[in-house]
Amino acid sequence: MTAPRSTILLRLEAPMQSWGDGSRFQLRRTADAPTKSGVLGLILCAGGISRSEADAHLDRLRPLRFAVRVDRPGVRGWDYHTAGAGYGILSAEGVVKLTASTKEPETLLSRREYLFDASFVAGLEGDPALIDEIAAWLTDPIWPVFLGRKCCVPGSPVFAGVVHDTKLLDALATAPWHGSGVEYPADGLRILMDAPAGEAVPVHARVAYDDARAFGVMDHAPRWGVEARIHPPHDGEVAFADDEAAPARADGWWSRVRLERLALDHGLCVFCKSEAEEVHHVTYERRGAELVDDLRSLCSPCHDACTALEYGGGMTVHRVDPLDPAWRPRIAEQIDLARNSGAAAVRQRVLDALASRLGGRSEEEGA
Ligand SMILES: [Zn+2]
Repeated sequence: MTAPRSTILLRLEAPMQSWGDGSRFQLRRTADAPTKSGVLGLILCAGGISRSEADAHLDRLRPLRFAVRVDRPGVRGWDYHTAGAGYGILSAEGVVKLTASTKEPETLLSRREYLFDASFVAGLEGDPALIDEIAAWLTDPIWPVFLGRKCCVPGSPVFAGVVHDTKLLDALATAPWHGSGVEYPADGLRILMDAPAGEAVPVHARVAYDDARAFGVMDHAPRWGVEARIHPPHDGEVAFADDEAAPARADGWWSRVRLERLALDHGLCVFCKSEAEEVHHVTYERRGAELVDDLRSLCSPCHDACTALEYGGGMTVHRVDPLDPAWRPRIAEQIDLARNSGAAAVRQRVLDALASRLGGRSEEEGA
């Protein structure tokens, strides 16, 4: 019998992301998907673990099996970056560097590459206790997290749930597709994942130098990666890689049944009675040929709460029903959690820190 494994899912979506792949100095490129070292760095940030303390934690985190799902690959672009213009930069000896020809303080020029408007779902699979620990860090981060570089602020909450007792690839199939604006790839979403540990490296495996052995002094080991394709729920439809029998949706069916449901609910969210913006599936049993009873009208915050519970529970065909009294307290709790976590919590901590600093200063001034 194998030990139970859990997978934590991270939604990595932002206007800009940049996942350094080892290039340094003047030309800093990005990999075409989040790197394992970048994602572990993000997790350590959330845990408030500094570079000097990171190495001990890396020993625990590195064995986690890593995978990334490409929901929207994004567009590459360059930033012409200057540092120290006008005031110079310091040499290793701690003196301001001067340009040889002009004797003016030197400006450091670099070109930095970014992925614009990309969207990924990353998964890390391993020991359930460690996965829960990471989930706690990500739901209440000590330092703000960023997607590869500090200027790359997440465009949506990073923590996307924990899936228990499910294989990494199947766990990645539970999160809905976030690729709005691009066409859903007919052969499914691209997955880049760690080759299975303890087995011979498959012949088609590719190497990536992003398995961070140390962050204090950067040291990256090679990591073998393999590719796969999966079909997560997308556009109100669910399909799995091993399921070829999905019925084709009749043209116009979805828009008709969706409007029918919204009319039945008087255009109101069935949970909170505010204006409904979305239609939610309580089952994907009849995908492509949904009955009006398979759907519920929801506002966006209530829909997000249902989806978060579904990710957390690893639900596939049968989903959360916001009309079911058994689910209602949990949905309300999830809405509260979303409201009080993430950005709001970080903002409160900054305000608290500022208040205590200002308080300290006025005491000093009064003395
Ligand atoms: Zn609502």
